[in-house]
Amino acid sequence: MSLVKDLIEKVKVKNPAEPEFHQAVEEVMESLELTVERHPEFVKANIYERIVEPDRAILFRVPWADDKGDVHVQKGFRVQYNNAIGPYKGGLRFHPSVNLGIIKFLGFEQVFKNSLTTLPMGGGKGGSDFDPKGKSDGEVMRFCQAFMRELFRHIGPNTDVPAGDIGVGGREIGYLYGYYKKLRNEHTGVLTGKGLEYGGSLIRPEATGYGAVYFAAEMLNVKGETLEGKTALVSGSGNVAQYTVEKLLDLGGKPVTMSDSGGYIYDEAGIDREKLAFVMDLKNLRRGRIKEYVEKFSSAVYTPVDQGKDHNPLWNHKANCAFPSATQNEINAKDAKNLLNNGVNVISEGANMPTTPEGIEVFMEAKIMYGLGKAANAGGVAVSGLEMSQNSLRYNWTREEVDQKLQGIMKSIHKAAYETSEAYGAAGNYPLGANIAGFLKVAKSMLAYGVV
Ligand code: NDP
Repeated sequence: MSLVKDLIEKVKVKNPAEPEFHQAVEEVMESLELTVERHPEFVKANIYERIVEPDRAILFRVPWADDKGDVHVQKGFRVQYNNAIGPYKGGLRFHPSVNLGIIKFLGFEQVFKNSLTTLPMGGGKGGSDFDPKGKSDGEVMRFCQAFMRELFRHIGPNTDVPAGDIGVGGREIGYLYGYYKKLRNEHTGVLTGKGLEYGGSLIRPEATGYGAVYFAAEMLNVKGETLEGKTALVSGSGNVAQYTVEKLLDLGGKPVTMSDSGGYIYDEAGIDREKLAFVMDLKNLRRGRIKEYVEKFSSAVYTPVDQGKDHNPLWNHKANCAFPSATQNEINAKDAKNLLNNGVNVISEGANMPTTPEGIEVFMEAKIMYGLGKAANAGGVAVSGLEMSQNSLRYNWTREEVDQKLQGIMKSIHKAAYETSEAYGAAGNYPLGANIAGFLKVAKSMLAYGVV
């Protein structure tokens, strides 16, 4: 058996019942097969096995009281995956589906993604099985404070810098940061995604969505095309989806779908700026459901989605490109085939690992422009890196400066992924190029440190 196949099997045995983690390791490791022959020094130092094992995983109890005074207990996680090239960096996810395997998959992905950004950031991820949906502001605040009561001792601006992810937006970051500041008695850049008034960066909320669209534009540019006039399917209606839609509109695209875990809306007339403003108000302030869109805009149709079904009808509409921006494994092989049959030939993943391995195979066989998450959605963490720099410098860049840096970083990521795919004889295979490019920098650093 090859070194890589052997390692994948070992990971499955050593980490039972963590299917998302196995999936992420398999996806990356299969791309790294080609590096084994070219880098005997990595094999000798056993870098491959060392890189799949997190530096440490911290598990903790998070007790909190609801508005009625009833006490609940949640699980808390922070996986500090790899700090070879910089402090651990990666978001916090609050969602009932969160477990150790999901946090490990996200942390593992983050190592390679952060390396690709060209900025000095290691990889980590954390979160809780807490569900913010339907909770009052007071309940969310008390939960965030209880979470930080343990997390604060493990993080720091030069150690580990968390940020948001699913269920953790501006409100949650405010509560988390406020409590860290209180506990430590210091105002320092320990979290990113902060409010502008207290150390946040302009364009951070927009960065992941904008970045995913910039990445799509870069892929199209290779073929001499643009997003102008292209119809786009977008899933999700949270942070990433909203700013994906906004940037698509800026670049002349026509987004026609958005969703949440209940279902999706299809608006044949296109989601324009007025409709997007409605969605932002609905989701960010009123915390409502996407189905309310059709009560306001009669051009749209709402379809409930059964999560257990064999395909998601959102991916079965005529379009040119798709921006999955909700969650992992939201496109399976059947969805992938539906996308191709409907004319989609550009996929730019705002979400982390939204396509199953079978779905990826469909895209790779069809040789379409497939921008995997760790490259396409790296804009968010890249601007988080810029927020860390601004906090250290005690300086703020303007909106235009941050946006320009973001565009520059997305171009560099695209270039690194594309050129590495060429160097390994598979031009345009972005998963291969991105995984290898992200890996090489971390592996070389680990090698330099010796066995630590
Ligand atoms: P939000 O919480 O703001 O939005 C998530 C959206 O996805 C919501 O519309 C939510 O619907 C939907 N969703 C969540 N879980 C499911 C599910 N199991 N099935 C169907 N829909 C679901 O999160 P973000 O926009 O921040 O994150 C979206 C994706 O992007 C995630 O994969 C995240 O890891 C990734 N990402 C985010 C970054 C960031 O900067 N925020 C950076 C890089 C990647 P509902 O409200 O019903 O739950």
